[in-house]
Amino acid sequence: MKAIQIIQPGKPPELREVEKPTPRPGQVLLKVTAAGACHSDDFVLNLPEEGFPYPLPMTLGHEGAGVVAEVGTGVTGISEGTSVAVYGAWGCGVCHFCARGLENYCSRAGELGITPPGLGNPGAMAEYLLVDDARHLVPLGDLDPVAAVPLTDAGLTPYHAIKPSLPKLVGGTTAVVIGAGGLGHVGIQLLRHLTPSRVIALDVSDDKLAFAREVGAHEVVLSDADAVANVRKITGNDGATAVFDFVGLQPTLDIAMGVVGTMGDVVIVGIGDMVATAKVGFFTQPYEVSVRAPYWGARDELIEVLDLARDGVLEVAVERFSLDDGVEAYRRLAANDLRGRAVVVPD
Ligand code: NAD
Ligand code: ZN
Ligand code: ZN
Repeated sequence: MKAIQIIQPGKPPELREVEKPTPRPGQVLLKVTAAGACHSDDFVLNLPEEGFPYPLPMTLGHEGAGVVAEVGTGVTGISEGTSVAVYGAWGCGVCHFCARGLENYCSRAGELGITPPGLGNPGAMAEYLLVDDARHLVPLGDLDPVAAVPLTDAGLTPYHAIKPSLPKLVGGTTAVVIGAGGLGHVGIQLLRHLTPSRVIALDVSDDKLAFAREVGAHEVVLSDADAVANVRKITGNDGATAVFDFVGLQPTLDIAMGVVGTMGDVVIVGIGDMVATAKVGFFTQPYEVSVRAPYWGARDELIEVLDLARDGVLEVAVERFSLDDGVEAYRRLAANDLRGRAVVVPD
């Protein structure tokens, strides 16, 4: 079968012919219907060769959807032909975090060598995807897999990031979204639907800012050296009640810390590089600011996000590519030349 693989860090991925997998006991084989390209893939592609964390070559794609093609012995509760989305943050299923659905924070994944598809295990950028356990599948029902597949990360991650801030985002407050890309454009929609807050979006070009407005931002501000002052012109002395940084570079973290107000949240979702930090100290930021850096989301939250899409309140902007053109999707992603999410659809 065809698969898009990372062969060597620092080089573009390649379309290659690999063996079609067979499900072992407990596993489920999906015929892939859609796979989303995430900026984290680009981050991984550019990691240094020395100490590269995953076995190579590795098939990319941690956002996956498919139709159940074959089930391994012992698999119950899911049958062939069912259209599903894949919960990708695989954990052990047994530890305290996993028992709460927070497999993204599985405390035993490291020692057991459990990794997500596309981030250690073979990913969804292929004709078939092997899923370790049926509990990692959520039936899609009538949802279009191409429109729904980004919700497994570009929807789930902002949802999990925003949820703890919801009690603070009451009437008259401001939420700031930095980076209106794959995650950010869903984040804006979630904030508009789940809160009465005014939403200010920041990005680096007029096109991206126009896109942010289209998906629901009330105000947009260019992410430049004047960004803190320009956001504060809108928020006044109160500052922002929650700032979601979907970029994670030093300049954006500085903006986040510069615009957050008293008792506000700074949520670092972007993994722009490995060195950017938000400094916290008694005299550094307004009183009672909380800073968190969440990773992906919980199993139950994926069900919630898919239900929001079913209710028609989330519309993912998708640019569609064939598997043969998947490498081009990654080029466009790296060039910051996408509107929403790039989704690869095998023939
Ligand atoms: P994307 O490429 O689709 O979007 C990034 C957006 O940020 C683009 O619109 C770009 O124009 C904008 N941007 C770039 N530099 C900026 C700046 N200085 N100021 C403001 N905007 C800027 O990326 P994505 O797939 O949405 O991922 C966003 C980030 O989140 C990436 O760093 C990715 O690795 C990370 N991520 C983290 C998690 C997690 O669990 N924490 C999950 C998925 C992705
Ligand atoms: Zn991702
Ligand atoms: Zn676990």
